[in-house]
Amino acid sequence: MRIETIDLNFLGSEEVIASFLLLGDGSAALVETGPTTCLESLRKGLEKHGVGGADVSEVFLTHIHLDHAGASGHLAEILPNATFYVHEVGYPHMADPSNLIKSATRIYGERMDELWGEIHPVPEDRLVRLSGDGEEVGAAGGVLTAHDTPGHAYHHLTFHEPESGALFAGDVAGIRLPGRSYVRPPTPPPEVDMEAWAKSIETMRSIAPKTVSPTHFGTFGDVERHLNELEQRLQDWLLFVEERMDEGEGREEIADELKDKGDAEMLSEGAEPEDTEHYDLAGSYQALADGIIRYVERRRKDRE
Ligand SMILES: [Zn+2]
Repeated sequence: MRIETIDLNFLGSEEVIASFLLLGDGSAALVETGPTTCLESLRKGLEKHGVGGADVSEVFLTHIHLDHAGASGHLAEILPNATFYVHEVGYPHMADPSNLIKSATRIYGERMDELWGEIHPVPEDRLVRLSGDGEEVGAAGGVLTAHDTPGHAYHHLTFHEPESGALFAGDVAGIRLPGRSYVRPPTPPPEVDMEAWAKSIETMRSIAPKTVSPTHFGTFGDVERHLNELEQRLQDWLLFVEERMDEGEGREEIADELKDKGDAEMLSEGAEPEDTEHYDLAGSYQALADGIIRYVERRRKDRE
């Protein structure tokens, strides 16, 4: 099996959102669709690799956030032979995206159209739910195994391709730019769960992949170092945000301080100052801080 990365050129920027193309003997599969606004880039990417719409037999979604799965309904039309695989908790929202659209509109407001475009349902007879208990699913003539990996979202899967050792990690392995070592934790509201996330990092370690492929963006071979850095940064950011909440700081102030901290960390790992905007396209600091604040508030309420 051959694996290619298609750059979806999100908002005209390179290396922000990826779709991964798996090529077997005469059949193809995709991991991630990207948003509807990137459909043209996806189409070109398939064409570049000589893949016609009818050749794609499977589409795998790590989770239903619009930057990962937003184009699914449109793709169901363009790829007439493709079956769509999604986590069982995300399944209803692919079949009927109305609540998904509502909650995304609460976050993105007037920018919905510019960022994500129109969202169509995937016909139920084309959709298959996965639990992520390691089930094997045929993919481009080979297989992918699906693993339940909550933390960034409750309904998040990672897919392992045993032949190459690639692990398609969605957002649960963080955000990392090609050629950089820095791993930024994507912690937007509303479902961030740090305990679940730590367990999912263990799950990814136990799969022992040869490479890890975050949707934002690319494929990296230093899996152990990558996961260690993510694990430590998640713990560190949680403590940092919690301390500031205890001091009575507001959400904007916390986001500003988290940004200063994150940018300093990034620069100390040799990144360029302009990298921060690039990382921001996949998750701004206000969203990252809000997601952690919400997690802390929820956990405190649960413990009362
Ligand atoms: Zn994402």
